[in-house]
Amino acid sequence: MAQLLDGKIMAAAVMDELKIRVDALKAKGITPGLAVILVGDDPASQVYVRNKGLGCEQLGMTSETIRLPGDTDQETLEKIIDELNGDDRFNGILVQLPLPKHLDETAALAKILPEKDVDGFHIENAGKLFTGQDGVVACTPKGIMYMLEKAGVELTGKNAVVIGRSNIVGKPIAMLLLDANCTVTICHSRTKNLAEHTRNADVLVAAVGRPRFVTADMVKEGAAVIDVGINRVDGKLCGDVDFDAVAEKAGYITPVPGGVGKMTICMLMMNTVEAAEKKAK
Ligand code: NAD
Repeated sequence: MAQLLDGKIMAAAVMDELKIRVDALKAKGITPGLAVILVGDDPASQVYVRNKGLGCEQLGMTSETIRLPGDTDQETLEKIIDELNGDDRFNGILVQLPLPKHLDETAALAKILPEKDVDGFHIENAGKLFTGQDGVVACTPKGIMYMLEKAGVELTGKNAVVIGRSNIVGKPIAMLLLDANCTVTICHSRTKNLAEHTRNADVLVAAVGRPRFVTADMVKEGAAVIDVGINRVDGKLCGDVDFDAVAEKAGYITPVPGGVGKMTICMLMMNTVEAAEKKAK
């Protein structure tokens, strides 16, 4: 039976550590701050944004959510980002994705100052990750690496397989696993014979967005299985991994809910605190 990588417990420990760091900054007269821009009224985005605000509150940080109507134009959005770039109250700026279809996501993200890009999506931060330089690392991949490290999962020389090639999860987690000396395979919707790849994985990351997509027969005995997927089935959340059956076979497994998602928010807090610490220096 797999060891559960409990995101709730790990995230609580990170938040305790961050609280100490926030208090230390506040003692120097600096309160870290996060500004979140939400365009439109996507229900899932509303929940994510609320949780981000609660995270800031828990740590005693400044937080502000700028809610814009769904028909906001690109110029207005970029003007607001510019204003936040120059606003010293905020060390972090986050544009909640997805943006409504008529807006240019890439152009909006490029407007954020790289040092305030606490989501790590700016091309400069993505480029730094790909060239092994110190930059802001995207929250979900950063949280996954934290979980693997805390659990003491051996990575050097191991086979890591990532299912999914998005800019926010698949590609950055593949780079981080490569940096950690894994031999990395990235699989995607056009991959042939997917299970042949996944059965070879000592570390398997599923970032697909399909409920219970990874079944036990696709998993190597003793593998560390990281489930990034957030799917809703009959009103209940479930991941990309067929949890019960895979847990019988894997060495480590993350649950959904209560796994990677919990780490994502606290890594956002960590990136904001780190931005404030860098600025304080
Ligand atoms: P995405 O839609 O951008 O990417 C999905 C990827 O899955 C694509 O690269 C695609 O090639 C691949 N894919 C689709 N069908 C496939 C198939 N049949 N075989 C192999 N690969 C296939 O999604 P994303 O933004 O990377 O998110 C993936 C999932 O993770 C979603 O469920 C999302 O909600 C979730 N997510 C969770 C967190 C978190 O904090 N836990 C953060 C971000 C995303």
